[in-house]
Amino acid sequence: MTMIAFIGLGNMGGPMAGNLVKAGHTVKAFDLSQASKDAASELGVGIAASAKDAVAGAEIVVTMLPAGKHVLGVWGDILPAVSPGALLIDSSTIDVESARKAHALAAERGCLSLDAPVSGGVGGAKGATLTFMVGGSAEAFAKGEPILSAMGRRVVHCGDAGNGQAAKICNNMILGISMIGVSEAFVLAEKLGLSHQALFDVASTSSGQCWSLTTYCPVPGPVPASPANNEYKPGFASALMLKDLKLSQEAAQAAGASTPLGAAAAQLYALHNAWGEGGTDFSGIIHLLRGRDGA
Ligand code: NAD
Repeated sequence: MTMIAFIGLGNMGGPMAGNLVKAGHTVKAFDLSQASKDAASELGVGIAASAKDAVAGAEIVVTMLPAGKHVLGVWGDILPAVSPGALLIDSSTIDVESARKAHALAAERGCLSLDAPVSGGVGGAKGATLTFMVGGSAEAFAKGEPILSAMGRRVVHCGDAGNGQAAKICNNMILGISMIGVSEAFVLAEKLGLSHQALFDVASTSSGQCWSLTTYCPVPGPVPASPANNEYKPGFASALMLKDLKLSQEAAQAAGASTPLGAAAAQLYALHNAWGEGGTDFSGIIHLLRGRDGA
């Protein structure tokens, strides 16, 4: 049993903290929102009066917050109260630069740290089936891995500080681009009089095969469990896809990498979200590609 502090009990953090309790750990947590605290409390998570109170005496501190500025703000606030030698893990999806700054803050305090963003969404957070992409030292990884395993199914060490975030945004850039590619092919097939099922049967067993087609097909029918069969209820919301694509473009600019398809994908998701689709699943981008009237 480990004493764990958990800051950020939203859609992802609440169930993740609950899974740590289920695994037999003692969890003291904090969130700014009363509703989030109430929901986590029902899962057996102990609620502290402040983030600083939550981390007092903790061996491991996990944060699950919206963006880089929140993570740097919270880590800056709690670090003076964290015991030197403790391990801090940030599982939020944030920019690589902020992640590396957070690691530096932890090191100044004599603490170990990991960036450990996730894929798998709210379903994965509830079912403890997340994939963690982890950046940080071998020592920090060895200490954090058993804790992350209680919240997920796969824990991949991607290298040094910031590399977990780098893996996450590279993966999601592939996902955004491939979903648009698959959707464009279905729209073209519709115009050419080719049925969704016929295109699926060919492409899913040919060189066009990819996850966006075979697991998350953007038209109803061929893959019964995909969000397209459920009015594009997320799943993975378009607003979060846009967030991740923007992070990939910031990183590409900072690193001098050329990612023209990533840039185009970010523009298309920005337009889709501007049409009020930020809350629907990201595979709903097919509506944008058909044109607003769906013609
Ligand atoms: P969320 O908005 O539901 O939760 C964030 C929580 O952080 C909120 O409860 C908020 O009150 C709390 N918070 C903000 N500032 C705080 C502070 N200073 N102190 C304490 N609490 C604070 O978001 P989420 O869906 O849980 O996502 C969290 C992170 O995980 C994001 O970085 C997101 O990009 C990433 N992510 C989300 C999903 C998903 O499907 N929702 C999937 C993968 C990764």
